[in-house]
Amino acid sequence: MIRRRDLRRISRGLRFRLTASYALFFTVLLIGASFLFGIRLNNTLQKEAHDALTDHWDAMKGYLRIEKKHEIDPDERAIWYYDENDTEETTIVLDIKKIYMVAAADGKVILGEDDNPAYSEAFKEIFDSAANIRARVAKANPNPAAPNPGPFWDTRRDSDGDQFLVRSGIVWDQVHHRPYYVSLGSPMAQYAKIQSGFTWIFVGVVPSGLVLGGILGWFMAGRALTPVKDVAQAAQRISGSNLSLRIPTREAGDELDYLILTFNRMIERLESSFQQMKQFSTDVSHELRTPITAIRGQLEVALFTAKTTEQYREAMFNALQDIDRLSQIVRALLLLSQAESGQLALQKSRLNLREVAVDLVDQFQIPAEAAGVRLEADLPGECFVEGDRVQIERMITNLLSNALKFTPEGGQVRLRVMSSPERVEMVVEDTGRGISTEHLPHIFDRFYRVPGSGTAPNPEQGLGLGLSFVAWIVKAHHGKVEVDSAPGKGSRFTITLPAAGVGSDTMELAQPAGRP
Ligand code: ADP
Repeated sequence: MIRRRDLRRISRGLRFRLTASYALFFTVLLIGASFLFGIRLNNTLQKEAHDALTDHWDAMKGYLRIEKKHEIDPDERAIWYYDENDTEETTIVLDIKKIYMVAAADGKVILGEDDNPAYSEAFKEIFDSAANIRARVAKANPNPAAPNPGPFWDTRRDSDGDQFLVRSGIVWDQVHHRPYYVSLGSPMAQYAKIQSGFTWIFVGVVPSGLVLGGILGWFMAGRALTPVKDVAQAAQRISGSNLSLRIPTREAGDELDYLILTFNRMIERLESSFQQMKQFSTDVSHELRTPITAIRGQLEVALFTAKTTEQYREAMFNALQDIDRLSQIVRALLLLSQAESGQLALQKSRLNLREVAVDLVDQFQIPAEAAGVRLEADLPGECFVEGDRVQIERMITNLLSNALKFTPEGGQVRLRVMSSPERVEMVVEDTGRGISTEHLPHIFDRFYRVPGSGTAPNPEQGLGLGLSFVAWIVKAHHGKVEVDSAPGKGSRFTITLPAAGVGSDTMELAQPAGRP
């Protein structure tokens, strides 16, 4: 027994709906085609009947005469003149004579020689009444050459209900110069039979079409949907722990393959962000563990081995340094996650980038001198951007401190700002150790430090978050950052920001300098 819930589920299914559409389509098509065919068949049969009767009518005019047998005979008779030895003529006349009626102008029926009254009585129903005949003849033109009313076409039924096509008209008797009313009938039974035959075929074909369409639709929809089921099953197997699984394509190059491909690409992106998240939490725990272990070490030293106040103080001092680093990491992480989740609102205003750069280059002169690195600035007149001062300062600071950090003594760091009406370009370049190509794509990732930068926790050691901040700040200001670096020669970070329209200096952008 199928339960109601199952029925509802099946009827909502794509397969059922596709099948229903097929069946409906077939039915509508069949009904439409049958309807059109029916109309066409009817028209053809009607035309054939009319044509046949018209032929009979034309022949009748040649063979039929209305005469009195004798001059004294009061009754006129319909007499058919034809050569009885001519089989063709005989066949035609006998065919015409089967159902006919001749009437005088007053509507009185004129019988033929060999017509018996019973025969006339049989077809009485299908011919016109005397009154009707009189009315129609009354309109006849006395001039036989002139156009006369008719032909009159009627479709009538006899007392048995059989249908007849009747053609009536006025025929002028050339001898007596009198109009006669003649009707020829033709049974429609054969045509009706053809039509009813067709109707039965139609009645039989439509339900079979419906059933056939349904079966075919069910089968085809099933075939078309099987891969969908496979895809769904494959998709179900994919979870957070096995995001590397992919749904196999069917190599059919169809819409479903396109869907599978799109799905796989989505999983790829998910896998990559999942991987990033995993990496991030590993990195965070690693980053936090290092200073925590160090603090624990310092405190244990203080507790178990320190004897003098000096030793205690040193242990405390070291522990405090590590705590500083810890809180620095936590603060930076918090800020970055706030920034990336859009919780950090930017306080944008029109900023003169030159001014900001001049201040920062001044601030960095002392550490630069201490490191034995020449720090130069190449700044144009005013150039404005729409930006958050704090973040723009953070961005320049990060770039300058990196440049100084990774440039050995005797090297050089330059900050250049150029502007055009549309954009402002800022370049921080150094002659430091550079970054090799394999690391370049990752330097903007969180906690990414080029191996060899030193992993031991020391105050100079970066957190690997500086460039993540730079990337976010640039993005938040609708700009872009590019890096160009060669190991051992130096690096160049180019940041392009949209210029803040009116007021900004219009200077030609300098051609990018060669590799530093
Ligand atoms: P960090 O705080 O460690 O400097 P960043 O995110 O600022 O972290 O930089 C990531 C890594 O990119 C650095 O560890 C360093 O290896 C590399 N890097 C950044 N700037 C430079 C530079 N100017 N020269 C050479 N290497 C650089």
